[in-house]
Amino acid sequence: MTLMPWERELAPIAERLRVGARTTVLTGAGVSTGSGVPPVRGDEGLWRRYRPETLATPAAFQRDPGLVWEWYDWRRQLVAGCEPNRAHAVLAAWTRHDPTMRLITQNVDGLHERAGSERVIRFHGSLWEVGCWDRCPSSPARWSDLTVPFPVLPPTCRYCGGLLRPGVVWFGEGIDPTVLADSEAATACELFLTIGTSALVYPAAGLVARARERGAFTVEINPDETPVSDHVDLVLRGTAEAILDAIEPHSAAR
Ligand code: NAD
Ligand code: ZN
Repeated sequence: MTLMPWERELAPIAERLRVGARTTVLTGAGVSTGSGVPPVRGDEGLWRRYRPETLATPAAFQRDPGLVWEWYDWRRQLVAGCEPNRAHAVLAAWTRHDPTMRLITQNVDGLHERAGSERVIRFHGSLWEVGCWDRCPSSPARWSDLTVPFPVLPPTCRYCGGLLRPGVVWFGEGIDPTVLADSEAATACELFLTIGTSALVYPAAGLVARARERGAFTVEINPDETPVSDHVDLVLRGTAEAILDAIEPHSAAR
């Protein structure tokens, strides 16, 4: 039996999990590629030749809400046909067994929640939430809407009849202040895992450096190199689903 190179390097993580070290996990699109969710960047992620940067902005929505909604409706249909994978399942078990564990995700697909993860900090919102574009006074900031596909696009606000918007954070929009505060608080941990993220999108990408500065043992799990690879304590080059599956027996969540 041949061991993957990373299989010899799990000890520092296993040890920390065994003693119940306070753990924070940051995930990105890479945890969902094993579920068949295509990345937003790159050729595979292109929808009708549009670049995401030209659709995921308030200006794009203002110009053509129908087009932007077609894209989100397509993404919702696609994700509805995907299942959480082993990486989602392991993280879900950890969040259920350890109330101090924090899971921050940049993903908007909802697969962590579908796998049963608790207290997910959704950095960039969710495909499964919507809000009123005009922020009409009787509507909450965001609410859940699982309709897929929408019978008419663009869908309308149930409170004012105006336009509905996807409950995600677009380029140029700020992160919810509560989410930012919760994420900052979560960097006070002993073990910080950054999994399946290209670490290009700030401020999420800055969390690992912050955790390390505060004394956490930091680990990157990613088959490819990223800008944070040289700034973590340990790099595990492999897929999230394989590596988390191998780490899981060492955790207390059994
Ligand atoms: P990204 O596409 O920029 O990077 C994905 C990273 O995952 C890459 O570094 C890649 O090497 C790695 N990867 C690929 N397969 C992997 C696997 N099996 N296991 C572990 N790692 C793997 O994604 P990002 O860093 O999350 O940033 C993208 C932005 O776009 C975020 O803001 C996010 O909101 C959004 N986004 C969301 C989704 C989603 O919800 N599923 C998908 C794509 C992008
Ligand atoms: Zn409204």
